Amino acid sequence: ALKITDQCINCDVCEPVCPNTAISPGAEIYEIAPSQCTECVGHFDVPQCVEVCPVECIILDPQHPESPEQLLAKYAVLTGAE
Ligand code: SF4
Ligand code: SF4
Repeated sequence: ALKITDQCINCDVCEPVCPNTAISPGAEIYEIAPSQCTECVGHFDVPQCVEVCPVECIILDPQHPESPEQLLAKYAVLTGAE
């Protein structure tokens, strides 16, 4: 999963582009729910939130390292695809 750092300026452009509705406004800054972020695997070639973030504050979450296979498996669970 990816995570949003405290550089976030709460601009809200990332929330609508997430195919997994993993992004939401948190108490201080926007947040990514790790259980719902596939790093866009299954949907797009590159993470859409990273593409649109104007301050480049979205990084790999060191607390949630995942292999491409794990991300694809998460995508399958989230979408109901097999
Ligand atoms: Fe959503 Fe993709 Fe960003 Fe993860 S990487 S939060 S799935 S837009
Ligand atoms: Fe924060 Fe970047 Fe999302 Fe804007 S696009 S809300 S700065 S994480």
